[in-house]
Amino acid sequence: MTRSDPHQVLQEVFGYPAFRGPQQAVVEHVLAGGSALVLMPTGGGKSLCWQVPALCLEGLTVVITPLIALMDDQVEGLRQQGVAAAALHSALSPEEASATWAALSQGTLKLLYISPERLLSGDGLRLLAGLPLALFAIDEAHCLSQWGHDFRPDYLQLGQLAERFPDVPRLALTATADPRTRDDIRRHLRLPPEAVFVASFNRANIRYWVRPKEEPSRQLLAFLAEHRGEAGIVYARSRKRVEQVAALLQGEGIDAEAYHAGLDPERRTAVLRRFRGGGPVVVVATIAFGMGINRPDVRFVAHIDLPKSLEAYYQETGRAGRDGLPALAWMVHGGGDGAQLRQWIEESSASEEQKRVERGKLDALISFAEAATCRRQLLLAQLGEPLEEPCGNCDCCLDPQPGVEVTEPARKALSAVHRTGCRFGAAHLVDVLLGADTARIRELGHHTLSVHGIGKELDRGQWRGLFRQLVSLGYLVSDPEARGGLRFGPDALVRPLLRGEVTLSVPLPPPSRDRRQAAARAAGAGAGSGTTAGAGAAGPAELSEADGALFAELKRWRLEQARQQGVPPYVVFHDRTLIEIASRRPASLEELATVGGVGRAKLERYGPELLDILARMVDPSPPSG
Ligand code: ADP
Ligand code: ZN
Repeated sequence: MTRSDPHQVLQEVFGYPAFRGPQQAVVEHVLAGGSALVLMPTGGGKSLCWQVPALCLEGLTVVITPLIALMDDQVEGLRQQGVAAAALHSALSPEEASATWAALSQGTLKLLYISPERLLSGDGLRLLAGLPLALFAIDEAHCLSQWGHDFRPDYLQLGQLAERFPDVPRLALTATADPRTRDDIRRHLRLPPEAVFVASFNRANIRYWVRPKEEPSRQLLAFLAEHRGEAGIVYARSRKRVEQVAALLQGEGIDAEAYHAGLDPERRTAVLRRFRGGGPVVVVATIAFGMGINRPDVRFVAHIDLPKSLEAYYQETGRAGRDGLPALAWMVHGGGDGAQLRQWIEESSASEEQKRVERGKLDALISFAEAATCRRQLLLAQLGEPLEEPCGNCDCCLDPQPGVEVTEPARKALSAVHRTGCRFGAAHLVDVLLGADTARIRELGHHTLSVHGIGKELDRGQWRGLFRQLVSLGYLVSDPEARGGLRFGPDALVRPLLRGEVTLSVPLPPPSRDRRQAAARAAGAGAGSGTTAGAGAAGPAELSEADGALFAELKRWRLEQARQQGVPPYVVFHDRTLIEIASRRPASLEELATVGGVGRAKLERYGPELLDILARMVDPSPPSG
């Protein structure tokens, strides 16, 4: 069996100098005939884990994925790189499908992308059985877990692969690292327990930026004003809000589209196609806009409502910056969002057990949104991957909010907890502190307590914020046994504060009474400067003026190429590649070949034209006689 060297394939076909994260280990494992599970965040580089082996091994690699858009993109991308690839899915015409089957039987294809229903229905499996097979890659493998949110019954039948093709390695890949999902995948696909490859889930190029929600529309417009010319997604909770926000943006001259499950399918396809087609479009969407968005140059994901959970937040923000360039996850939070989500949980018909889980998830989300310390540390801790040091690329690290001295209010809050018997939640405790005269307070006799009405220095929102900070700092513990009632944390922590031996400062929401003053302050800080520069690789913002002009010219050229071929621009070249060309300005084909993302096929196809553009742009002076 002849076999090429994976590094050589990586360099010559894909134009990359080195593997990333666990890619190399995965490739070697597969080349040695092993099956495995690969956990990598979105943008981590899952595709190369099967594409490189496919080109090193003899025979056909079958890639199973439910996402038609992703199939078409990858097939197009591979063809650009000179690789024989094709797809089989329900959106193909019968002629296209039979052309693919013909190519398969002639043995001319290296990679076949196929949807699970196409593989499992009719005689898909039988036809494949007659072909020399190298590898099965099962992408989005979490679809076979009933725990996951994307469960697809079709996927369960992929369990047959192990029996029907015992000699063909199976590579399962997913961006969902949840342990239960992981176990399900391993069990169904009979993957060896030790063969698990995990990449870091830290998306270092994404900057997390959260601001208190004051006037969300105005805040969003200010944010978008700083991101003109970039593509992004704005998530909102309901269809109605999506429509409203999209209309607002359009009214401001922003190229925005609405997307939600209530639109007719043609409309949705049209929006998706526009988004994938490149260009600085902003899609305002519910979570229905999700699977299959593999456009690499999404520069921001904005949330104007809280997402459902921290996991959902991670997945949704993960759609930004798949190309590794600086990207922004921006969110406004507050104004009763948390309270509303909490109410939905309480009013739902779920079991008490399930409600407890939901409450815990909501608490994690709100602690993240209200954190005063590094957000990435909180997020990664929740994903089971603790980060030692603060990240330096979130608002808490870069723009810490000044704390307010709250020693006295904190002591009052603790007294209120104590005097009411350590069994009430924050909402009631705030009522007591503010001296509210409600039926419940009277019923409980809480209007007679010494703490009733002693907290007029803060308003309701600020007291709620203070209670959340006390919980996140450990002074108070939310007791699930007592329906979320608050009790004291460890003595060693609480006692010094009660005795006045320590002082406490935390960030608090601005007073709601003085909204105008709050808004004026936010205009200075809000979506303010310093949100676009990033960590890691250079982004377009870091290019010099001349390089920026060259980059713009290269993008124009790319768009023209993409139009002529009817493919998305990033299939021709990624931004990252064009930026490197613009800043390094290679003068020869050899030099151009060393740019990341320029493989042999693209070098031959586009190299001469690119060098022409460079020569023209770099030295525009007329030849002297
Ligand atoms: P995933 O499927 O895990 O979300 P992709 O396979 O689409 O991620 O890869 C994300 C981006 O990273 C792509 O633009 C890809 O070309 C790039 N990439 C992947 N591996 C490497 C590598 N070893 N070196 C440079 N770029 C890479
Ligand atoms: Zn940080």
